Amino acid sequence: MAHSILIVDDDTAIMEAVEEYLNILHYDVKSASSADEALKTLESFKPDIVLTDIMMQGMDGLELTRKIKASFDTDVIVMTGYSAAYSYEEAIQAGAGDFIFKPFRFEELDLRIKRVLREAELQKERTLLLKELEKLAITDALTGLYNSRHFFSQIKTEIKRYDRYFRALSLLIIDIDFFKQYNDTWGHLEGDKVLMGIGQVISSCMRSMDTAYRYGGEEFAILLPETKLQKACVVGARIKDNISSMLFEPEPGIKKSVTVSIGATELKEGEDFRSFISRTDKALYKSKDSGRNKLTYILPD
Ligand code: GH3
Ligand code: MG
Ligand code: MG
Repeated sequence: MAHSILIVDDDTAIMEAVEEYLNILHYDVKSASSADEALKTLESFKPDIVLTDIMMQGMDGLELTRKIKASFDTDVIVMTGYSAAYSYEEAIQAGAGDFIFKPFRFEELDLRIKRVLREAELQKERTLLLKELEKLAITDALTGLYNSRHFFSQIKTEIKRYDRYFRALSLLIIDIDFFKQYNDTWGHLEGDKVLMGIGQVISSCMRSMDTAYRYGGEEFAILLPETKLQKACVVGARIKDNISSMLFEPEPGIKKSVTVSIGATELKEGEDFRSFISRTDKALYKSKDSGRNKLTYILPD
């Protein structure tokens, strides 16, 4: 797709000459003869680059550059005469990506445009890469849920929110029953498929505010903000039932299911994350002790 450029110059002869040249180079070009007209044009036309004169009647090119950088995702190249009282530093500080002295050769203008476009492209790639890395750092590769590092950061954040707004916060910890035996019988890779399946069930049972984590090797945690314990238990029970009705096929023709034990509790006032997790763990061990495939809750006292 052709890159687009908005030319802003109150000298019509220059504006038309630049427009003609950029058209020949197959850029998608529009023009404006003042900064105000340029800002109006930008409401509907989203160019890759605005190429603006600095010295113009009314709002000058530097002010226009500042306004564009504050409101639009567009690069700016400013043009100025040698004799003008504007400096390169001023233009860059205003947010311009490059600067060109008039009169210029069109070849030089084209090179500067290409450089700014390439820079924008690289910046976009860097931003994407950074986002990807940030996501990787908090994601569990096997299940796609968040990892335990993110769990510890989020539980602290949610507790702070609780302290500020006194909205209920519940926690579920889920542990697979007799998982060692499943691994020993069918192999670690088959065990991994169980972990992935459970991750999917958990994701499908959560509400939009809830967040799920692979908390340990075969343990999962779910944080439920603005949720009283009773409601959290309904979510937990649904997860438990859906997991037990899921069938795995560790060998052709052999269908197996697994169960989980769940502990649930609600945060109490003034409590820190350690005590919150520890009470949830206690509830989980009660589920294990009383025969597994159960959900146990402990009320905050
Ligand atoms: P319980 O019902 O008391 O929870 O018994 P369990 O066998 O599930 O518990 P135990 O703590 O004895 O064993 C946990 C097992 O989880 C041991 C380990 O092989 C398995 N496990 C932990 N992480 C992973 C993993 O990433 N992949 C697979 N396949 N297995 C894992
Ligand atoms: Mg365990
Ligand atoms: Mg287990």
